[in-house]
Amino acid sequence: MNAFEWYNPTKLVFGADKVGQLGELIEPYGKRILLVYGGGSIKKTGLYDDVMFQLRNIDATVHELSGIEPNPRLSTVNRGIDICRTEGIEFILAVGGGSVLDASKAIAAGALYKGNVWDFTIRKAIIQDALPLGTVLTLAATGSEMNGNAVITNWETKQKRGLGSKLVYPRFSILDPKLTYTVPRDQTVNGIVDMMSHVFEQYFTLTTDIPLQERLAESVLLTVIENGEKALEDGTDYDARANLLLAGTYALNGTLPNGVTTDWATHGIEHEVSAIYDIAHGAGLAILFPNWMKYVYKERISKFVQYAVRVWHVDPTGKSDDEIALEGIAATRAYFTRIGAPATLGEVGINDEHLERMAEEATQFGPIGSFMLLSQDDVLNILKASL
Ligand code: NAP
Ligand code: FE
Repeated sequence: MNAFEWYNPTKLVFGADKVGQLGELIEPYGKRILLVYGGGSIKKTGLYDDVMFQLRNIDATVHELSGIEPNPRLSTVNRGIDICRTEGIEFILAVGGGSVLDASKAIAAGALYKGNVWDFTIRKAIIQDALPLGTVLTLAATGSEMNGNAVITNWETKQKRGLGSKLVYPRFSILDPKLTYTVPRDQTVNGIVDMMSHVFEQYFTLTTDIPLQERLAESVLLTVIENGEKALEDGTDYDARANLLLAGTYALNGTLPNGVTTDWATHGIEHEVSAIYDIAHGAGLAILFPNWMKYVYKERISKFVQYAVRVWHVDPTGKSDDEIALEGIAATRAYFTRIGAPATLGEVGINDEHLERMAEEATQFGPIGSFMLLSQDDVLNILKASL
């Protein structure tokens, strides 16, 4: 097991109607609030009114930044930064899915930085300070509610890049499973795939003798697989939505990578796909991940055998390791297809036109991944296999 340090400062407030605690959670941070949300789902569901009621109760002055895009854009983040500066914002409240949360983190860091917030994503600057932020999550997927990462897209240069810092962990995140009842089917599917992919990135590792981390990861996967299907059958199944929500948080709140060398190559490749084509992150991952698995599994076949047997209950009797591993990978693809995720780039309208550029961008700082170190050519091969 690798040496590690772990600290996660986010306070989780989980359960039905917990938005009722919003006022008291925000009060210590100030009264000048920037409320950040997306394209309007929170107005349709009534959550906007509930949040405003809470903010009025603490006599907050509220400025709004709405219209955060799925795959949030640098230009929108910059609008938020301007509001923070001109209005003397003291606290940012993100209400929505991962895109709203990520945009809010970038705004929080950018508001206290003199240069361009994009500098943080290209490693030109390190986040030294950030406004405090809190979240009300409406979509189970990214884990952004309990981590210090954000992904934003520079639409002019067609680059999607991440930033990260201990300083942008949400101070609190309210997770009410009922708020996810209205998530449409396709977004529920994208969320399921994203959470499973987060686990894959940390589970397929060359680090050995980590039974706790492996079983935690397998438990998150099994929980997502089972409750994902239940939530798709009945979107208002409280327990299914609750288990999915918590699994999404555990998948990327720093629990799983303790002591483990993680991979993250597939996320890197997906970001290049959605930077150019603006497809949903989960859709891109569903297409790419089984192809990454097929490309790399021989690097440590025993891990893929374990995955097949423990997660997909593949019967190993009389089969070679190769057969078992491939059955597990096929079961992954079959599950994605069963829940309605795409399997090829062609299905989401992507041809081979920009594959070279994607491979080049994905490896601009050198080879990526750790389970297998992928060169530009390897990335291109995986993209071609995904056509
Ligand atoms: P999202 O982009 O935040 O939201 C997708 C769509 O779902 C939006 O159209 C949104 O509508 C709608 N929606 C959200 N909650 C809803 C609800 N309760 N009812 C009805 N509609 C709802 O989706 P996401 O998957 O959470 O976030 C994706 C982004 O996160 C990508 O950019 C991805 O790269 C990034 N990401 C971040 C991390 C991280 O650690 N920070 C990890 C993985 C991925 P409205 O806009 O109208 O609200
Ligand atoms: Fe992701």
